[in-house]
Amino acid sequence: MAIPNVKRFRPFCPTCNESFTVMAVLPRDANVDSYLGDVVARHDHKAFMDSKNTKVRVGQQKQVKKK
Ligand SMILES: [Zn+2]
Repeated sequence: MAIPNVKRFRPFCPTCNESFTVMAVLPRDANVDSYLGDVVARHDHKAFMDSKNTKVRVGQQKQVKKK
């Protein structure tokens, strides 16, 4: 049984002021710090904020519809 070597990271994005989850398969000799630095540098801040705002809005709409 092959277990994929997927690891979950929680890098902190100073632009979003928020940690986000990254799933990645890294080579054994990979430099995690530099990898995460690269991930944060390429982070899609707008998409991240949009998805957060969408979640909040959906939750609010559900509560309104319940009444
Ligand atoms: Zn960001």
